[in-house]
Amino acid sequence: MSETPLIHRHTSSPEGALVNAYLVETHSGVVAIDSMLTVTDSRALRRSVEALGKPLLAVLLTHSHPDHYGGLTELVGSDDVPIIAPQGVHDVIRRDDPIKEQILRPMFGDEWAARRTFPDTAVQDGERVTFDDAAFTVIDLGPSESPHDSPWLLGDDERTVFLGDQIYDHTHCYLADGFHTRWLANIETLRRRFADDAIFHIGHGGPVDARAWDWQRGYIETFVGTIERADWSDPGRAREAVIEAVKTYLPGDDLQFLMELSIDPVAAQLGLLEAPPNA
Ligand SMILES: [Zn+2]
Repeated sequence: MSETPLIHRHTSSPEGALVNAYLVETHSGVVAIDSMLTVTDSRALRRSVEALGKPLLAVLLTHSHPDHYGGLTELVGSDDVPIIAPQGVHDVIRRDDPIKEQILRPMFGDEWAARRTFPDTAVQDGERVTFDDAAFTVIDLGPSESPHDSPWLLGDDERTVFLGDQIYDHTHCYLADGFHTRWLANIETLRRRFADDAIFHIGHGGPVDARAWDWQRGYIETFVGTIERADWSDPGRAREAVIEAVKTYLPGDDLQFLMELSIDPVAAQLGLLEAPPNA
């Protein structure tokens, strides 16, 4: 008997960066897409798995950022299940986790997991993993919003996409990793690939459809363009100019801290500001 898998979205608290994880419920179990940032939110995600009354079968990761992998320890618990992503996602998480510890511990205290769990099962671009009637295919995108990104497709028709953070749904965005040129190129590649009626399940907010690509491109171009045009002889005023321009594009303040964290790294990358330590 064939059954369509059910997609449950689990959204974190605002304190946990409004991150989404998804629980895809198959006939006999649950496949999680990503985890959460904080301990509290990831425990709640684990309770959502248990409330479905089916075992966790696997976790799939959409990219290498800590708001999506930091909660793996609580999500997985003592279950012996694979945590699946392309090798590049594994490598970035292991490489950058000590830096994320330095950044996130002061911000989140005990809410940043004391012991993080990392992916343990690698897949190649286009590889498929199947659980009951749910077939997931990975796109190994490489650097984009994070240093290594890996959206997943559910099913054969390319209309159900777990896109990670390639699109934010009208919240501020994180650009500090400095791959905005690749991100913009990937927006065009992915836009061409997917049909107009594809549904994008994204890392914060959503779901969204193909109309969201233009908004995302405009956000990145506004942010980077304003940094390029700002007068960095006075860094304080330059930062204010960037915030003002970006908030004209997007007046709300959801996830504004992610955008503000990104200003100095991108200015440094563009040679406009001395590189901050750790960059
Ligand atoms: Zn995120």
